[in-house]
Amino acid sequence: MRITDIREIAVPLKSDLRNAVFDFSEMTTSVVAVITDVVREGRPVAGFAFNSTGRYACGAQMRDRFIPRILKAKPESLVNAAGDNLDPEKILACMMQREKPGGHSERSVPIGAIEVAVWDAVAKIAGKPLHRVLAERYNGGKLLDRVQCYVGGGWYQPGKGLQELRDEIREKLDQGYTTMKIKVGGASIAEDVKRVEAALQVVGAGTNLAVDANAGFDRERALAYAKALAPFRLRWFEEPTDPLDFGLLSEVAAIYDAPIGTGENLFSTQDVHNLVRFGGLRAGRDILQIDVPQSYGIVQFSRTLDMLKQNGWARTALFPHGGNQMTLHIVGGFGLGGCEAYPGVFGIFAGFADDAKVENGYLKLPQRPGIGFEAQNHLYAVMRELVPG
Ligand code: MG
Repeated sequence: MRITDIREIAVPLKSDLRNAVFDFSEMTTSVVAVITDVVREGRPVAGFAFNSTGRYACGAQMRDRFIPRILKAKPESLVNAAGDNLDPEKILACMMQREKPGGHSERSVPIGAIEVAVWDAVAKIAGKPLHRVLAERYNGGKLLDRVQCYVGGGWYQPGKGLQELRDEIREKLDQGYTTMKIKVGGASIAEDVKRVEAALQVVGAGTNLAVDANAGFDRERALAYAKALAPFRLRWFEEPTDPLDFGLLSEVAAIYDAPIGTGENLFSTQDVHNLVRFGGLRAGRDILQIDVPQSYGIVQFSRTLDMLKQNGWARTALFPHGGNQMTLHIVGGFGLGGCEAYPGVFGIFAGFADDAKVENGYLKLPQRPGIGFEAQNHLYAVMRELVPG
């Protein structure tokens, strides 16, 4: 068996949202199809993925380096020992040829998107949902049928006041979510504290509310927010500092007693290692939010988990960034803490199967083979276009 082609397309997000640091008006995402010569139900099996949200489309690197490396490799060098399926570890190694160490995100995002699409094909060829393939390989075969899911929102929008924020949160709770994350840092501290108090009126307890500063604070503001937010004992305080400023993060962690969340903008095992060694974070208290398709994909993520285990971190401390079907399978397959959701935002890339329902803060894992993008009509329409015939 072999990969016959890999195709990609850049799709605009068409979002008018803004967080504390930037707006999404120009944001694009790469959609990838890895096409194989394996035929199921009269059609070639194709694996799909996209490069999550928040990093721009990366088609140039895919077209210039990673796709040609895979297509040039001997087909037998990219399959498993039995020769009956693709081997994602070998395909990752193939893409990493002649790549210089360090400086990760320029390649970790395109490589991760292709790698996750390979896994979709692997699971489809095996006839199993991806979370089951991952559980068998990476979690001792422990199959889950549902995972915890929290909802992100609370963006800044023109004309949106405290009542609109409360209404937004109420709507999410009515949809079945129990924990909500809202943005902070796009207003003054006094205004943001009022927003947190308003949100708490709806969600009930601090453990049901997280806040996300999107790495937008300088030292003075990061420490001031840490002081102002600490008494609320929130579920977590996300990205209070620049993702690579481990010195400042450890200063914040020293005065902020409740959980801190970070890691969605770190793209390598080495960066996450530095984070847990030098960022002042505490295993058992804080949470990590690696975005798997943006960080070289699933094989490398399993190595990051091994490293974290050696440093005392449990898998349940991981709440990967990216409220999408790929992350849902990864959370279920590896047995992580939970996943996030962004219903109705980020265009066709938001959310899960069209008929997915959240119940009491939990989401059921999909059962169709692969990742199951086929159950996301608008997104799958784009993916299907990439496959000839
Ligand atoms: Mg975030």
